[in-house]
Amino acid sequence: MSDCGCDEAQKRVHDFLSQELDDQKSQDVIDHLANCDDCESEYYVEERVKTLVKLNLGDEINPELRQSLEARLIAVAAEIARIEQEVAGQINISGETS
Ligand SMILES: [Zn+2]
Repeated sequence: MSDCGCDEAQKRVHDFLSQELDDQKSQDVIDHLANCDDCESEYYVEERVKTLVKLNLGDEINPELRQSLEARLIAVAAEIARIEQEVAGQINISGETS
């Protein structure tokens, strides 16, 4: 199995979700995500944002507005993911779950 590396994988995640990659490159991304937690969480953030934009706005939206909304949502989602990790870390450190 050839691993495309984190930089390449994260660059490709966006194209992967837009279904702009050929089969070989898609497979590289899938293989990498299966073995890399960092890139996997990156992927979930992007996927969540894409789903959110699609559900609420559909395909009719002006591409410029879509791009700007997606960029903002990705920034917010990345921040939420960081907070989630921090909270999870706190729970593990203190040993409390409630
Ligand atoms: Zn990676």
